[in-house]
Amino acid sequence: MSLIFDPVTINKSLEGKTPNYVLEWAIRRFHPRIAIASSFSVEDTIVIDMATKIQPDIKVFYINTGFQFKETDEIKDILKKKYQLNLVEYSSKLSMEEQTLKYGENLYKKDANLCCQLRKVEPIKRALKELDAWITGLRRGQAVTRNNLDIVQINKLDNQTSLVKVNPLINWTRQQVWSYIEDNEIPYNPLYDKNYASIGCEPCTRPVQPGEDERAGRWAGTNKKECGIHTFSEKPKNSTINAR
Ligand code: SF4
Repeated sequence: MSLIFDPVTINKSLEGKTPNYVLEWAIRRFHPRIAIASSFSVEDTIVIDMATKIQPDIKVFYINTGFQFKETDEIKDILKKKYQLNLVEYSSKLSMEEQTLKYGENLYKKDANLCCQLRKVEPIKRALKELDAWITGLRRGQAVTRNNLDIVQINKLDNQTSLVKVNPLINWTRQQVWSYIEDNEIPYNPLYDKNYASIGCEPCTRPVQPGEDERAGRWAGTNKKECGIHTFSEKPKNSTINAR
């Protein structure tokens, strides 16, 4: 049986609710066809910490670009063990060698959008095709590109496929994030202690300076602000989808 899913009504009912409440609602509504997208940022880890208390075997997926920092690989392994994660990794159809052969060295310098498309967007679309809903650690305060986030959005993957995106932390501040991490003694990527505020691929990420936007260290010196995994075409806010 399919049901009409109306994000406007759902957002009204979830506005002002805690992240835990939103996660309980989402997991009850969509499990087992729901998963957490994690780059093992502090926000994603908070979502994992909360969600695994509700549903210990909830699927977590990670996009392995081949360009991540070694510190990111290390914290992924630490958190996988700590939470006994049901973790699935997706990577590009092109190996690093194949990408270099086809497009030359350092594609991220020549065409970062294409590099992100090959190493992030295509793999995440494959991951999302298996789901009805996904959960992120996005916050409105991270960047101007994220100011208009809703708790629940509908992503259109292609002409046939739409799915629900759930952002339980949208109203949290950076301070709330770090209080949660410290209060719950959650391990985190040590690069945060070296002024990295948002951690992506090593060649495209630098530390931020005081007063800079949290995502200013991503693709610094270019106009690129997002890798493309959070900018799939959003259906209009008042549209509905048929959901299982
Ligand atoms: S963030 Fe940089 S290295 Fe990573 S996929 Fe995008 S362009 Fe390539």
